[in-house]
Amino acid sequence: MLVALAACGGAPGSPGPSGGDEGRIQVVTTSSVFADMARNVGGDRVAVTSLVPKGLDIHTYQVTPADLRAVATADLFVMNGLGLDDWLEKTIRSAGNRAPILKLAVDLPGVVLLPGDTPDTQNPHLWMDVSNGIAYATRIATALEAADPTAAADIAASADAYAKRLSDLDAWVRDRIATIPEADRRFVLFHDALPYFARAYGLTIVGVAVEAPGQDPSAGEIAALIDRIKATGVKAIFSEAQFPTALVDQIARETGARVVANLYDDTLGDDPVTSYEALIRWDVDQLVGALR
Ligand SMILES: [Zn+2]
Repeated sequence: MLVALAACGGAPGSPGPSGGDEGRIQVVTTSSVFADMARNVGGDRVAVTSLVPKGLDIHTYQVTPADLRAVATADLFVMNGLGLDDWLEKTIRSAGNRAPILKLAVDLPGVVLLPGDTPDTQNPHLWMDVSNGIAYATRIATALEAADPTAAADIAASADAYAKRLSDLDAWVRDRIATIPEADRRFVLFHDALPYFARAYGLTIVGVAVEAPGQDPSAGEIAALIDRIKATGVKAIFSEAQFPTALVDQIARETGARVVANLYDDTLGDDPVTSYEALIRWDVDQLVGALR
């Protein structure tokens, strides 16, 4: 769904000075995950910039002057919504750009949303279920085709090929998770990024260390999580490369569970985690390695 911003008196969404990107659709995304999807779908018809650098937390990200420059000249914005990256909308308003904003997770057909960290919110991490990743890519293709109808045939062909690869990836995830004994398909995570993944692939998340990034748990909450880990015999606590590990290390010491601190979800990382497909494969390999 494309949402045109009605506010602000800035320049209409015409391409800005773009150097070697002349004639391409200028796309600005929040996460490098969505940027990778846009590149796969748009091929050489798009020039994509993602705002959140490797290693920083998308939930609490502070925009920079360079981000404002990228935002000012974009033809299309691609974000997740549902509270993951809502800071982008304020940035777009300050830049006065009226280009369309695609919110990938909002009103995604057929998806039942899971609860977020506070009442009346929804968990935003839909793309960690690869079938939702396919829906994200399809939405990006539709938005790109609307941004430049002359590129529509190219984009449709790339989008079809990409959806086919993601569908194979989804099947691969199921096969790999099936190799974990059923009783061991449970884990604890630093922040609540995998509930859609767990729902899709038949795993149980026994608990999360922080309710939301930037919010430290109380001593009582930590003690309750430790009790739950001991009671359920969880083998591993997973954390993500962009978050500090002191808390999960402490929980691991008190429970004997193992820490695996290099999952990726909100953003891409170092080689080999440089694409959405590689990120999913990487995480599945870490989960299977620690739980099997
Ligand atoms: Zn997250």
